[in-house]
Amino acid sequence: MSDDRVHLVAVIGAGPAGLFATRALAAQGARVLLLNRDIKPGGLAEYGIFLNKYKMKGGLRRQFQKILGDPRVTYLGHVTVAERGDLTVPELASLGFDAIVYAIGAQGTKYLGIEGERLPGVYHAKDLVYHYNRLPPFSERSFPMGRRVAIVGVGNVMVDIANYCVHFCDCDEVVAVARRGPFEKAYDDREFEDVEDAFDRAWYREEIQRIRPRLEAAGQNADELLTALAARSEPSPRARTRLGFRFLASPRGVLAEGGRVVGLEVEETRLERKGERIAAVGTGQTSVVPCDTVVFAVGDRVDEHVGLPYKDGLYLTVPGEDPAAAYQVLDLAAGKAQPGIFVVGWARRASDGVVGRARLDAETGIKHVAAYLAERPTRPRAEADRAIETLCRTLAERGSEVVDYAAVQKLEAAERARAAADAVEEFKFVSDREMLDLLRG
Ligand SMILES: Cc1cc2nc3c(=O)[nH]c(=O)nc-3n(C[C@H](O)[C@H](O)[C@H](O)COP(=O)(O)OP(=O)(O)OC[C@H]3O[C@@H](n4cnc5c(N)ncnc54)[C@H](O)[C@@H]3O)c2cc1C
Repeated sequence: MSDDRVHLVAVIGAGPAGLFATRALAAQGARVLLLNRDIKPGGLAEYGIFLNKYKMKGGLRRQFQKILGDPRVTYLGHVTVAERGDLTVPELASLGFDAIVYAIGAQGTKYLGIEGERLPGVYHAKDLVYHYNRLPPFSERSFPMGRRVAIVGVGNVMVDIANYCVHFCDCDEVVAVARRGPFEKAYDDREFEDVEDAFDRAWYREEIQRIRPRLEAAGQNADELLTALAARSEPSPRARTRLGFRFLASPRGVLAEGGRVVGLEVEETRLERKGERIAAVGTGQTSVVPCDTVVFAVGDRVDEHVGLPYKDGLYLTVPGEDPAAAYQVLDLAAGKAQPGIFVVGWARRASDGVVGRARLDAETGIKHVAAYLAERPTRPRAEADRAIETLCRTLAERGSEVVDYAAVQKLEAAERARAAADAVEEFKFVSDREMLDLLRG
């Protein structure tokens, strides 16, 4: 492609997937407009990765800054593309982009459909994670944590929530509740080291003895777990909070008295081999995990109110064996791809893996976008620039308070100055209003 003729591509969502997709597109000479719901870029790399992983977040921020500083890229934050957003999906499709890449993550909530799931004191992990990582508007809501917290799920997000409870809240006890057993845990041992100081080994041993008959019935060796435990060195000093597990327990309902959570009712399960998989099967026997706060860390689904074709927690892509198909958004009525509309990252596979995986997915997706663009005519760069300017004017006329990358840099400088003045590692403004006022003032 000659330098003054380009394809014009919109990328929606500036999390890791959208940013790495942008980098791959710009590297191929495309002119990219990057629209993002949040004022600041980064997605879950900014608002998900645990509070004190400063080094990891800093490294990612530096990569993102480079992408956003590329003159072929225009960033517009505080712009939501959704049914009730600043722009709708059909509007965006009508603006003449050569391709549109949705990288909007998994913003919907996976409800289990059990009683009490929406009581005060019951949270979904993403909301709580957004809260403690200071993403507006979650940062402006209060998420009181009690003394006894039950976290449903045994993945890395459970470990992050436990870390928050142990090191940033005043909890006495945290229990991770799993439908299956210790051999099916989904968290990484390296991540668990962050909460090892709270891990109550005696409690764990008791739990393994309690479920021993059910493990053995499934051909699993409980002694293997106890030997592995004995080989681990004891952390020092110990945290005040104790952390344990409740295995083979499937949540049935959140129990409350006078509107306050008092427990999580669970059905005991047993393990059954189903081909390669180990499944949990209810035994009909119920019991109660005493707690005053429940956090569901069971993964997320995509936002069904965006306006993309949706079913069962996912956006619909084209069925079939063609590797490109899995990245192409389906035109439901026509039963084939919506030309030029793609999806990547957690928007394609909700809650699927770490940043590296989202990046790989974005880069793979962009290979398919590039193959699509190769068949389309380019346009003069000045025309692409004008199209972006026209869209900026339209958004301003509608009253959208759009934040460009120069403004983001100004905000970040103000946050760094506050962190230095307060002698803290990091400072983040709590509300969109605060950030917008600072920029306007
Ligand atoms: C609690 C938690 C902790 C994690 N910790 C780690 C870790 O330590 N290390 C690691 O490597 N990975 C970690 N991950 C995984 C990592 O965050 C993800 O792999 C990655 O962020 C997914 O990238 P994404 O761009 O697909 O989605 P997201 O990061 O969710 O980005 C989506 C972007 O889209 C924007 N958006 C959403 N809806 C719209 C819309 N309608 N219109 C416009 N824009 C929109 C959002 O503002 C956001 O910027 C963690 C995840 C979670 C949930």
